[in-house]
Amino acid sequence: MAKLYFYYSAMNAGKSTSLLQSDYNYRERGMETLLFTASFDDRYGVGNITSRIGLQAEAIIYDEEFDFLEYVETYLMESSRVNCLLVDEAHFLTKEHVQQLSDICDYLDIPVLAYGIRTDFRGELFSGSRYLLAWADKLSEIKTVCHCGRKASMNLRIDKNGAVVSEGEQVHIGHDYVSVCRQSF
Ligand SMILES: [Zn+2]
Repeated sequence: MAKLYFYYSAMNAGKSTSLLQSDYNYRERGMETLLFTASFDDRYGVGNITSRIGLQAEAIIYDEEFDFLEYVETYLMESSRVNCLLVDEAHFLTKEHVQQLSDICDYLDIPVLAYGIRTDFRGELFSGSRYLLAWADKLSEIKTVCHCGRKASMNLRIDKNGAVVSEGEQVHIGHDYVSVCRQSF
């Protein structure tokens, strides 16, 4: 029985690196994978998963309207098999997306590995993370370190002057983030 995995972490912990390593492991064994990433501007219909240590791979872009189950079922009509789905930026998934990914595990028997940030800059769950934490078969934390040496689990939003921002929209382009431990948060 295929499983739904959620690999969660603070920002900049190496989620994309971990995803690309898993993809490599599958492909090295002759298996077929599908990679997905979120985008707020899907200009080309093709996205990239880029890790900070230089690895990169093409990925299918999903937005709010995207249906993972429909996509995979259509894909399987023309292609012999898919052995694994890898989903980056999984915190941006909607409740419906997570339901579709669960169905892909349960009815198509294809494992799904989702990678995302657990909480936003206010310490609130992202929608995708909320349902992945609730419904995934396996939860696994990708760890990184706070400046104080403790495990970083939270994300601070920083403005261009280096000041902490504590109010605003959940998603905002143009701010930087620092991952910190709960106490430093
Ligand atoms: Zn700390």
